[in-house]
Amino acid sequence: MTACLQPADESNAVPPVPASLPPRQAEPEPRDFREGRAGFLHSWDMVTAVNGPGTRLTYFLAGCPLRCQYCHNPDTFCQDQAEQVWTEDLIRRVRRYRSSFLLTGGGLTLSGGEPLLQPAFAGRLLHSAHEMGVHTCLDTSGFLGALADDQMLEDIDLVLLDLKAGDEALYHQVTTQTLAPTLAFGQRLADQHKPVWIRFVLVPGLTDRPDNIRAVALRAASWPNVERVDVLPFHQMGRHKWETLDIPYQLADTPEATREQVEQAVAVFRSLGLNCPD
Ligand code: SF4
Repeated sequence: MTACLQPADESNAVPPVPASLPPRQAEPEPRDFREGRAGFLHSWDMVTAVNGPGTRLTYFLAGCPLRCQYCHNPDTFCQDQAEQVWTEDLIRRVRRYRSSFLLTGGGLTLSGGEPLLQPAFAGRLLHSAHEMGVHTCLDTSGFLGALADDQMLEDIDLVLLDLKAGDEALYHQVTTQTLAPTLAFGQRLADQHKPVWIRFVLVPGLTDRPDNIRAVALRAASWPNVERVDVLPFHQMGRHKWETLDIPYQLADTPEATREQVEQAVAVFRSLGLNCPD
């Protein structure tokens, strides 16, 4: 159960810039995007117990290099329909909610899409939040982990790392990309003792093979910095988006994962000493 804390007069529109700020051009230029003063934003929300601990402001950054069969946000694949936003406006919103974050143990989460597709933009957001004492979280597939520089890792308190499959062949089938970059990023986070929550989506007939679940669990167990594993049941809530976007959806006939199937997968993770909250 989540609690929406979005104020009644708030919307996804970027708040107006106060008159005290220096004037700037209306539209960001390519250089602003390159240097992280602006970025492509899909949407944002403010909820509790999702995307990290406490009450969290989550910015969903637009664009993703993966094409996961089970993606429930295919409208984040591309940036051409995304809102072009100024970084300072997003930081201002973080500041506005700072006391709520401190009160609830929450903070800022960058999700997507894939936030590391815009490393300069993501880096500035994380650094500003970190500097004002707000807990920061990066929700990522890890595929572009090499684009997260050491400064960015310093500015991140928690990484939500999606492990979508346990071997290259299945990872490619699920995502169209390769697993190795995610494993390299996971190992880098382990070497730096960075807190990580692993997320694994259980898709009947795709990722639920016992050998795959065990391979994912073994990998997670090999990283001592993994604080918890969330086994997320596949659902069909994103189906209408695929249809609206007219993108072929391969899982139209796939049943949602049952509670029993999730419990069986969780048992495998727990058997290796991993923490899987109920
Ligand atoms: S990484 Fe996330 S946003 Fe990208 S395709 Fe996969 S599920 Fe969708």
